Amino acid sequence: MNETDVVIIGAGHNGLTCAAYLAAAGLRVTVVERRKVVGGAAVTEEFHPGFRNSVAAYTVSLLNPGVIADLRLAEHGLRIVERRAQNFLPSPDGSHLITGEGRTLDSVAKLSARDAETIQEFSRELEAIADVLRAFVLRAPPNLVEGFGVGAIRESLNALGTANILRGLSLEQQRDLLDLFTRSAGEMLDERFDSDLVKALFGFDAVVGNYASPYAAGSAYVMLHHAFGEVHGKKGVWGHAIGGMGAITQAMARSARGAGAEIVCEAGVREVIVERDRAVGVTLDNGDTIRAKYVASNVNPKLLYTRLIQPSALPDTFLARIKNWRNGSGTFRMNVALSALPSFAALPGDGDHLTAGIILAPGLAYMDRAWRDARDRGWSREPIVEVLIPSTLDESLAPRGAHVASLFCQHAAPELPDGKSWDAHRDKVADLMIATVDRYAPGFAASVVGRQILSPLDLEREFGLLGGDIFHGALTLNQLFSARPMLGHADYRGPLRGLYHCGSGAHPGGGVTGAPGHNAARVILGDHRALFTS
Ligand SMILES: Cc1cc2nc3c(=O)[nH]c(=O)nc-3n(C[C@H](O)[C@H](O)[C@H](O)COP(=O)(O)OP(=O)(O)OC[C@H]3O[C@@H](n4cnc5c(N)ncnc54)[C@H](O)[C@@H]3O)c2cc1C
Repeated sequence: MNETDVVIIGAGHNGLTCAAYLAAAGLRVTVVERRKVVGGAAVTEEFHPGFRNSVAAYTVSLLNPGVIADLRLAEHGLRIVERRAQNFLPSPDGSHLITGEGRTLDSVAKLSARDAETIQEFSRELEAIADVLRAFVLRAPPNLVEGFGVGAIRESLNALGTANILRGLSLEQQRDLLDLFTRSAGEMLDERFDSDLVKALFGFDAVVGNYASPYAAGSAYVMLHHAFGEVHGKKGVWGHAIGGMGAITQAMARSARGAGAEIVCEAGVREVIVERDRAVGVTLDNGDTIRAKYVASNVNPKLLYTRLIQPSALPDTFLARIKNWRNGSGTFRMNVALSALPSFAALPGDGDHLTAGIILAPGLAYMDRAWRDARDRGWSREPIVEVLIPSTLDESLAPRGAHVASLFCQHAAPELPDGKSWDAHRDKVADLMIATVDRYAPGFAASVVGRQILSPLDLEREFGLLGGDIFHGALTLNQLFSARPMLGHADYRGPLRGLYHCGSGAHPGGGVTGAPGHNAARVILGDHRALFTS
């Protein structure tokens, strides 16, 4: 394993996707992964005896249908099922909102007749823009290049292609697009809706992985980012991978290995080898070296450039900028083993709503408070929690009669104020998250028989997610599209020849999409053909 065509740093789902495409095209590929298992943030583990769950990422929608088809993930064992209801939002005042095929309008109408009319129009508006985003997902954004060489011609063509896609939108839709890229979700939702729960339904998507108030400029884009997914061709729908998110990456690994890629676990990269401004391989933690024509990085860009490459090998200005790459999504993640299903005061008993993403954050003001509280104290006294109980759709995760739930908790500071450590506060905050669920579903706390806790610090230590950032870098306007990870490097090529970005720090960003892996593979193959056929 000392020489190969491409060495990929990290076997997250994007590294695996990139490997599968490159190996299928005939390149020799070696993927080296620091952890014991492949999958990065998309893994399933037993976290309590007899109870398994998706450890970090917990729900599927953004995974690109083209990637699913090309990698033949279904043949490699992947089965995705739809939730029986999409979202359930209980309110402390006893009302609730439940969404999903054939349910949303009736449920919204019970809260506000005006909102029932507006929601259709707003959903259509979002859907039209999400369609445009879908068209951009599997292509590199226009990259800014200096000078007039081949690169400039290629990028001019790319910019024309981009303009062509945008021309599919009417002037009014282009105005909507501008709003969605620049405005706050809170303002846009307040303008359209009356009901707090309806606003919270959309507002939650604006703060997922976004350590900010729903009233922060740019939060509308994060809301949109979560709308471009689909399950079985149904747009905007979220589903569950049988066996948990690890089933996706296990299928990807089978696909990559089937195409000839080699994947080595417990093989962390210590350093990228650079010779004469070219990345030519990696040195592993155990001192072994792998030389390669191309090095593709699946890790957070700041991690790559500040920890795995000698500063002297990088342009000073590039290094200075990447040091300011903004990480920290404000995520606190728990998995709990349950002796029984929860019963929510706003809709007691079992039912389809228990298969939904259950959002405990009954309004935008609540979310705004959660952010301000977390900024001042490190975490919010009334946190935002999404509860998902995948065992309602998948019997393989828990013993008969018992259940597992994912608690995805938003607005926990990436770093605590006053030098406090998450290690000293992890359990206390976990108790708070469980108590928060218990307020909506009395008896929940008593049903918890085991728990796994991942603070932002744990996410960094375990998965290499700097600042616990679930997206490998905030989805802010200065870190998106042609600026991801930096203007001039949106074409998946790093500042060193032979070095590529194939992870979520590249366009189109975070989520289990497979898109950065796909796009990087295309660029590497293009460069390889240009080098070896000329
Ligand atoms: C708590 C949480 C919840 C989320 N929920 C969802 C969700 O429900 N749905 C969704 O679509 N997305 C979700 N996301 C986002 C999504 O999981 C990530 O954006 C995505 O998985 C990132 O994939 P990746 O392949 O780019 O990188 P990663 O999955 O981060 O993979 C990078 C890999 O590199 C490895 N690595 C790091 N350093 C080294 C080194 N020095 N040498 C070798 N290997 C190294 C890591 O161990 C890791 O395996 C969530 C993420 C988190 C953390």
